[in-house]
Amino acid sequence: MEFCERCGGLLLPDAKKKKLVCGGCGKSSKSKANVVVKEEVNDTNVKLEVIDKDLDVNPEIEADCPKCEHKKAKFWTLQTRASDESETRFFQCVKCSHRWREY
Ligand SMILES: [Zn+2]
Ligand SMILES: [Zn+2]
Repeated sequence: MEFCERCGGLLLPDAKKKKLVCGGCGKSSKSKANVVVKEEVNDTNVKLEVIDKDLDVNPEIEADCPKCEHKKAKFWTLQTRASDESETRFFQCVKCSHRWREY
């Protein structure tokens, strides 16, 4: 796992550029991506795989789980390249592991 030298954000594999790109500020890493990204999968699947691997490092914050109403969830953000540069916030309940996203 590598982190952005500019903002400290988590570097995510970019399937199109074939290198690591910061999920926070969008800066691409100088170091060569040491990750295997399947070209066939769409962007959403790539992101979800990354999220699965890195869940342990995400901070817990106060958030209401829509499923079990637990008050704490792990939290992370991703920049979506699809439409605009808006940031997508993801949560995972620490109690029931339910995941949801907030726009
Ligand atoms: Zn960054
Ligand atoms: Zn829950």
